[in-house]
Amino acid sequence: MDAAEELDIVIVGAGICGLATALALRTKGIKSVILERSDTLRASGAAIAILTNGWRALDQLGIGPQLRRTALPLQGRGEARWVKRSDLIEMLAEDLPHGTIRLGCQLLSVELDPFTNFPTLQLRDGRILKAKILIGCDGASSKVAEFLGIKSNKLFPACAMRGLTYYPSPHGFAPEFVRTHGNNVVCGRSTMTENLVFWFLLLPGYHDRDSDIFNDPEQIKQMALEKTNCFPKETKEMIKGCDMTTISLTYLWYRPAWDILLGTLRKGTVTVAGDSMHVMGPFIGQGGLAAMEDSIALARCLAHKIHGETGLEGNYGLRKEVEEAIDMYVKERRMRLVRLSARTYVTGLMLSTPSMKMKLLLFALIIVLFQDPLRHTSYNCGHL
Ligand SMILES: Cc1cc2nc3c(=O)[nH]c(=O)nc-3n(C[C@H](O)[C@H](O)[C@H](O)COP(=O)(O)OP(=O)(O)OC[C@H]3O[C@@H](n4cnc5c(N)ncnc54)[C@H](O)[C@@H]3O)c2cc1C
Repeated sequence: MDAAEELDIVIVGAGICGLATALALRTKGIKSVILERSDTLRASGAAIAILTNGWRALDQLGIGPQLRRTALPLQGRGEARWVKRSDLIEMLAEDLPHGTIRLGCQLLSVELDPFTNFPTLQLRDGRILKAKILIGCDGASSKVAEFLGIKSNKLFPACAMRGLTYYPSPHGFAPEFVRTHGNNVVCGRSTMTENLVFWFLLLPGYHDRDSDIFNDPEQIKQMALEKTNCFPKETKEMIKGCDMTTISLTYLWYRPAWDILLGTLRKGTVTVAGDSMHVMGPFIGQGGLAAMEDSIALARCLAHKIHGETGLEGNYGLRKEVEEAIDMYVKERRMRLVRLSARTYVTGLMLSTPSMKMKLLLFALIIVLFQDPLRHTSYNCGHL
């Protein structure tokens, strides 16, 4: 049997969080390796809203100016733009040193080495890796979160449809995000460029997760058209003209705020970030932005303790420092994430309930609990 490969920092998952974390570490002069189970970089979900707090994180990662050029700023408070997920993923990956991302590597399980207390990773292809630090950025069904013993995520009683529509000549919509309601469906539309819009539908209720529809763009479009029957003509035209390579239907997971509050977010030198720590619905557009904030905070805390120049190479004595660094990161992030998750959940309930009385009640609760509706977007994750 081949000897296990030994690595310093292993990140699992090359989504927004894993890539941002590797880039943030690199900016601090710290090397890492990302294991990604897919054979290509995934950018599913068409587009993502980036609000002021997200732009702050992207500026720290050095890709803010370049990404801004791809989408128009929207009217309103703060800085908001919807960017293509593929643009974001490509720009995050572009600045990583060659060999950082290992595609087709799926993590199956993690355990702690009884002698060193560092993590040992079992991969699907039978290989075993030894890491000094393991960061789980492996999304909603995270193996690393499972290892930490965080409770399973829950399914939100609604589904989301998303797509991009290109217009051959300028569509003429104002640079804004518009949300309309009808037939117990919420429809969102945002201008991305003069010829491109992102749209989504929020469909309350559970859908059969084994149904074919999730993998069939034609069926998804048909369902979108049926659900928007009572919407204005321009909405139906937008859906009819959708780029079929971008349309998707997805069920929504969330981790209850109290599980983030009470969960064990570090074991030895293993931790989690992004959706694996705090998957939340899309209702206030914060899941991906919080993931980028995590990456900045984690890289800053690790760099504070382990210093890029000496690194972790051959240095098993640094375990205590690494554990302290991760504890600092968890402490910094926990309450921010509890608040974001709670707020996302209550907003999701408000948007998806058919009862007007309930909507008003939940709206009042949001005002009482969170006051300024945009306060969470002014958060500053600080310098790297
Ligand atoms: C409908 C919808 C709309 C949204 N809109 C917004 C928005 O407007 N703004 C916003 O900020 N957020 C939004 N979000 C949330 C945002 O998409 C997520 O928070 C973000 O993508 C999380 O990134 P991540 O890297 O943590 O996880 P993921 O994107 O899930 O990436 C995880 C990666 O890990 C890989 N992986 C998983 N398991 C393994 C394994 N065992 N071994 C190796 N690799 C593995 C996966 O292949 C994947 O590449 C939305 C979410 C939904 C569902």
